[in-house]
Amino acid sequence: MKKNIYVLVIIVLLFSCKDKGERIDSNPNENFNIENKITLEDGSLIKLSEEKAGTFSIIIHGGAGTILKKNMSPEKEAAYKAKLEEAIKVGYNILKNGGTSLDAVQKTINIMEDSPLFNAGKGAVFTNAGTNEHDASIMDGSTLNAGASAGTTIVKNPINLARAVMENSSHIMLSGHGANTFAKEQGLQIVNPNYFYTERHHKSLEKIKEKEKTELDHDDKLTFYDEDIKDSKFGTVGCAALDKNGNLAAGTSTGGMTNKRWGRIGDSPIIGAGTYANNKTCAVSSTGWGEYFIRGMVAYDISALMAYKGLSLKQASQEVIQNKLTQLGGTGGIVAIDKNGNMVSEFNTAGMYRATMNAKGELTIGIYKKE
Ligand code: ASP
Repeated sequence: MKKNIYVLVIIVLLFSCKDKGERIDSNPNENFNIENKITLEDGSLIKLSEEKAGTFSIIIHGGAGTILKKNMSPEKEAAYKAKLEEAIKVGYNILKNGGTSLDAVQKTINIMEDSPLFNAGKGAVFTNAGTNEHDASIMDGSTLNAGASAGTTIVKNPINLARAVMENSSHIMLSGHGANTFAKEQGLQIVNPNYFYTERHHKSLEKIKEKEKTELDHDDKLTFYDEDIKDSKFGTVGCAALDKNGNLAAGTSTGGMTNKRWGRIGDSPIIGAGTYANNKTCAVSSTGWGEYFIRGMVAYDISALMAYKGLSLKQASQEVIQNKLTQLGGTGGIVAIDKNGNMVSEFNTAGMYRATMNAKGELTIGIYKKE
């Protein structure tokens, strides 16, 4: 009788773990699966499956673009790497301690938003009018709930506003004045717009405006066809994470593109373009020339290729960035994680600030293409 109960328990456990062992990629990051074993009364060991429970990972970007080693001083490179490491470790520790992927994404992005190094929060680029307008979004892969804000001017950490929109409003995206008001009502940290002034980004705006004056036959699209913009880096920040409960989340925060006007909004706050997360497939954050990322629905397209065509995260990301986006004429990249914790960074620019950490605590940091 006792023996029969053991057999029954083993059968039930075998069946309940059956579909958790599937793999969709052969990325080395998946080598940290936890083996699930039970010991029988007679001391024999039974391996139930390659259970995924407990696996977690996190990946971030700090923008993509023409980031070339020859233009980078060792000090600048060290500063970027140190900030990327500081940021990703915040998210890693949240995940390691059993926290949610949403918290990991938000808190990691906060570190980069507070740094002048990246085009987000404090370091946002300038609009044509000499202001700073922030866009951000966040998505919860377990519920497909999402929040976004666009064109805010006084919110210190726009990713916090995106999360508040998701959790405390019945809307997905708020913009401009209304979004600023909602942020105040939510008790989020509000700053004087001067907080976002950085000399470096103000100089970039002046340089572009100077060029506009000398190129008389420009049309309205000049802003986005200006080599200064096209070839400069896009410093948006983003994060994708998988937590121990198997929940994926992604978030993105940006100041947009230098010299933007007329309330231009890029891809970063657009769910499906700049950010997407679905527990069934992957979590993605984009950076690059926003107009193309919107046209290509880049983040969602990667998820869709996995869902409908059965592609791995790597295959789907390559298809969307190296083929589709490139053929459209767009530049930039993505970071992403699939439901098994495999991490991918894919870009068609010379470089992308990026970092990964897996459940073993292994850290990678990259800037240039070949790293
Ligand atoms: N994607 C952002 C935008 O177009 C720019 C960036 O990635 O830096 O607004």
